Amino acid sequence: MNTDKATPSRQPEPDSSPPGHERRLAWLWWPGICVILAGLYIVLPYGRLASGVYVLTSLMATLGVGLAAYRRRRLIQPAAWKLIAIALFLATLGHGTWYWLDLHGLTPFPSVADVFYLAVYPLLVAALYKLGRRKGRSEGAMSDALLVGISAAVLGWVLLIVPYSDDPSLTLGQFLISAAYPIADLLLLPMILYLVFLQRARVLANLFLFSGMLSYLAADLLYAHGNLVGWYTPGGFTDSLWLLSYAFFVAAVHHPSASVETQAETSNAQLSQRRIVILGIAAILVPMLILFQTGTKMQIVKVAAFASIVLFLLVLHRMRGLLAETQRQADALERLAKTDPLTGAANRRELSNLLEREMARSERLDAPLSLAFLDLDHFKDFNDTRGHSAGDTLLRELAQVWNAEMRPSDVLARVGGEEFVVVFPDTDIDRSQRVLERLLELVPYGQTCSAGLTQRQPGDTEETLMGRADQALYLAKDRGRDRIVCA
Ligand code: GH3
Ligand code: MG
Ligand code: MG
Repeated sequence: MNTDKATPSRQPEPDSSPPGHERRLAWLWWPGICVILAGLYIVLPYGRLASGVYVLTSLMATLGVGLAAYRRRRLIQPAAWKLIAIALFLATLGHGTWYWLDLHGLTPFPSVADVFYLAVYPLLVAALYKLGRRKGRSEGAMSDALLVGISAAVLGWVLLIVPYSDDPSLTLGQFLISAAYPIADLLLLPMILYLVFLQRARVLANLFLFSGMLSYLAADLLYAHGNLVGWYTPGGFTDSLWLLSYAFFVAAVHHPSASVETQAETSNAQLSQRRIVILGIAAILVPMLILFQTGTKMQIVKVAAFASIVLFLLVLHRMRGLLAETQRQADALERLAKTDPLTGAANRRELSNLLEREMARSERLDAPLSLAFLDLDHFKDFNDTRGHSAGDTLLRELAQVWNAEMRPSDVLARVGGEEFVVVFPDTDIDRSQRVLERLLELVPYGQTCSAGLTQRQPGDTEETLMGRADQALYLAKDRGRDRIVCA
């Protein structure tokens, strides 16, 4: 089928005003400032100046995101970006408090700074959720994200929280606040995965947002590990990772593609092989942990963990089979909905779809398009003398030989008992008349057929085009049948 696969372009439209070179790179200003300040922070020795630069960077990021969220026209989900701006503002307050306490010889952890820092997470979670909740089905993406997220949460618990709980030097308050960060990270992770599973990561703006979220998580994890093992000191690489994540957020909201609507493209039925592998790994991770963390005395727990790994894999294998079956059925259903069961030719609905597309294409490219209406002559007599099933056989064979004679891009549709329509894209009336003559000669069992032929004129609709061919067919019947009349 010569179908036109051109889809509307996904190119981001420029935000406003002329799309000159400077205009196209204008989005780099804000993230550029943040990156330069972050670089300055790394270079400076830790102290009053460096911490000032740190707070200034996060303030600039807050302003950068906030200005875009409140002022930029055509931004997708501005509410989500406002939440991110507020989150950055709270982080800025946290940084200010932390450095002030540290530089005055007071304990920055745990302190009121943690209240600001911890308030950032629910805002980020809400922002990501808002970015995900748009048109399109999303139940599948959410449950997949939770599956992977919960699995990662358990892994994170074992790696990040259990060590704190074993540390006798931590007070209860310190332990709770230390544990709150990895827990908050692990709430954030499913939300990031949710957007990835919704396939929103296809535009650059979202890719920046995910990179920002991931470097935020990475900074959190490094900080937790560094505190645990004792290598963390302020002013180093870990701190700059947070600043990097802010720069990514700013880049995301300023990039032109932040105003491009992306479609949710997953549904429950569309589980790719890759997705199944990811879900499989997530599902067996928890029993794996049990298997490797349990002491040798707990034989039964080990056996149960091993068994549940096998069970999960079997369930997934079964699911894959079911999905393949569903896909097969969906394909069969689609075929049924498009074709006539007796002859396998396109049915009226499919003809209408194809004709709409071909007429639009013909108009756009100024290419000719012809359409013929065909009706077997005295077919009632054929049925009456040879029997209805012989009539059916003729119709089946007719569709077969006609299809073999036509170009692959031509369309044969059965629109009534012994009535057919043939669409000839890219073909003028003279050339399609020659093809039609051959088709008429191919009618089996010595039967004949009449046809009305017409070519698309400017301003034609599906109805006017078909109407003209139908009129011509009437004339062909009137003039004695077994002939072609051109309208
Ligand atoms: P004309 O030359 O004027 O077209 O004569 P005709 O007999 O073909 O015209 P009419 O439309 O009156 O008859 C159509 C006949 O086609 C009626 C019916 O017996 C036959 N027919 C319609 N659908 C089917 C079908 O699915 N199978 C079979 N075997 N016959 C069908
Ligand atoms: Mg008829
Ligand atoms: Mg007929």
